[in-house]
Amino acid sequence: MARKQFPRTHKALVLEGYRFIAAGICREPGCGAKIWWYQTPGGRRLPIDVATMRPHQWRCPGVERNKRGAPGPRAQLELFPG
Ligand SMILES: [Zn+2]
Repeated sequence: MARKQFPRTHKALVLEGYRFIAAGICREPGCGAKIWWYQTPGGRRLPIDVATMRPHQWRCPGVERNKRGAPGPRAQLELFPG
């Protein structure tokens, strides 16, 4: 994904078409960062670090863990076909 100029403020995000959904806390173990959920112009949900206004997955310790972590729903489908 191209990391072009990501908006640095709430106002800039809104101008780019992002919509604020809710405030929350990241539930990844060892993280607990304050995040704001936005809906992207493409309709996806994106957590933003309140402290830095950057996408939270850029620094969340849970993201790396999830990459090599437990199998997701797709793997379960393969284990139990039909
Ligand atoms: Zn996190």
